[in-house]
Amino acid sequence: MRYFLSFFKPHRSLFIADLICAAFIAAVDLLFPMFTRYALNTFLAAAEFRTFYIFIGGSLALYLIRMAATYFVAYFGHLFGARVEADMRRTIFNHIEKQSFAFFDRNRTGQLMSRITTDLFEVTELAHHGPEDVLISALTISGALILMTSIRPELALILAVFMPLLVLQTVLSRRHIMHASKNVKEKTAEINTAIESAVSGIRVTKIFTNEAYENKRFAANTQAYYNARKDFYRAVASFLCRMDFFTSILNLIILAAGGFFIMRGTMHVADLITALLFSAAFLQPVRRITAFVEQYASGMAGFRRFTEIMNTCDEIRSNPGAIDIKAVRGDIAYENIGFAYNNGITVLQNVNLSIKAGQKVAFVGPSGSGKTTLCSLLPRFYDVQSGSIKLDGRDIRDINLESLRRNIGVVQQDVFLFAGTVKENIAYGNTEASDEEIIEAARRAEIHDDIMKMDKGYDTLVGERGVRLSGGQKQRISIARTFLKNPPILILDEATSALDTATEIKIQKSFDELSKGRTTLVIAHRLSTIRNADLIVVVDDEGICEQGTHQNLLAKKGVYAALYKAQNGLI
Ligand code: ADP
Ligand code: MG
Repeated sequence: MRYFLSFFKPHRSLFIADLICAAFIAAVDLLFPMFTRYALNTFLAAAEFRTFYIFIGGSLALYLIRMAATYFVAYFGHLFGARVEADMRRTIFNHIEKQSFAFFDRNRTGQLMSRITTDLFEVTELAHHGPEDVLISALTISGALILMTSIRPELALILAVFMPLLVLQTVLSRRHIMHASKNVKEKTAEINTAIESAVSGIRVTKIFTNEAYENKRFAANTQAYYNARKDFYRAVASFLCRMDFFTSILNLIILAAGGFFIMRGTMHVADLITALLFSAAFLQPVRRITAFVEQYASGMAGFRRFTEIMNTCDEIRSNPGAIDIKAVRGDIAYENIGFAYNNGITVLQNVNLSIKAGQKVAFVGPSGSGKTTLCSLLPRFYDVQSGSIKLDGRDIRDINLESLRRNIGVVQQDVFLFAGTVKENIAYGNTEASDEEIIEAARRAEIHDDIMKMDKGYDTLVGERGVRLSGGQKQRISIARTFLKNPPILILDEATSALDTATEIKIQKSFDELSKGRTTLVIAHRLSTIRNADLIVVVDDEGICEQGTHQNLLAKKGVYAALYKAQNGLI
């Protein structure tokens, strides 16, 4: 709750102005029955036309001001809510951007989307309606009680007895509604996840002509969502109708009691009318409380999902006193490292490896042996669990993360392009690069000519994830990106494995150009491409099993020699 309120702080003044207006509205609603009573008893009884119509005119003026206040509450109140929402959204987005790979291994896109969009929208509604509703209700209810006491204590007593009943019934319903609302949110998130997955996988679906299967799967999601909504509405409806019933009964009891007093001759008709007006004024706050309960349930469920994310902290942190590194030479040392993913299965154990600045090191070994894992430990996409990795003799945890990653370029097998233009995608390597630098990078990646042949050149849209480009083009754009980044250390993770041999040979030239003068870690599928590496490291399930140059390893007649022979059809 305190965390929730902390988001109100920057917009305090707007919030307070909103509350004052709300209080004013409540006061007008309370004053009207009192004025009416006074008018009935004094002016009408004495047939004072003038004063009576002055009173009417005064009320009109008050209602005009009330109108302005209502406008303020409806407009600025919502605006206040929207500001709180924007702050929360920024906060959660910044938080998510900071998370490590492990976080995204666990959380699905659709789930995150729904937490950042719909869930927060309901938090906004609560942020401004909530305090408003509570304030207005508390004011009107206590005001009505006090004023009523001054008219007829017995009737006030009836109101006072009714209050706890209403509160009790509200509290009892709240938990049920809240639970239903959380369920609705979870199902909404599942729908988002399903859509995200279905749309991004649509090409596979069409290959397997599985549209009907997908429809069926989605129908199940929709049904689950529908059921969740049904439960929610049922909870709300039963709360609403009970609330409605209680308030009608309240009117009836007041009429009964007032009628009794009047027939006994102990009360004026004017007092009964006032009392009935009050009980009508009472209805308003009861409605508000009802709305509040519903909103509180949705909003708090949304906020809880917000804090759930805010509390999971999967950030990679550097040691205190970590420094920025400037001129990086590129000496890398893995010292006795061990690593396992979230699931606890050890992937690497007791791995030692030393790479000299400017060397080209190749990693080979069966798929799933941990080559990618080994390389992703260097930019700290994941952190080692034991041992340490040193860059130029310094533990990478003693280096500021941003500074570390700025010095490492990674080119992977599956290239991700952002929906946007070719130029934007290349410029992602250095968002401040000039057009000339971008073109230069494209030339060195041998993609410039291809780009010039596209209909809009550098302004051609690549489509979602780059679907409008060929695999080779995408890969060369990612190489251009890395040229622009210009890091002293380079990781090439099976960057050409998905391409045909002709394209591979063409791209190989760009890679050779790219790795010139940089410490390069290459994971290679085809051994022919890494024969000239300074060091070849063979990785298997146990970790590193062999290392040496091509000649050394062939002479050793071990795992590498066998792999090499197999690939060249020598066995
Ligand atoms: P390689 O690159 O040599 O093919 P990887 O380093 O990708 O192998 O994978 C090594 C092992 O770690 C595999 O058993 C794989 O299933 C597992 N693994 C890879 N990525 C993850 C991940 N994000 N979460 C859990 N396990 C993973
Ligand atoms: Mg791999």
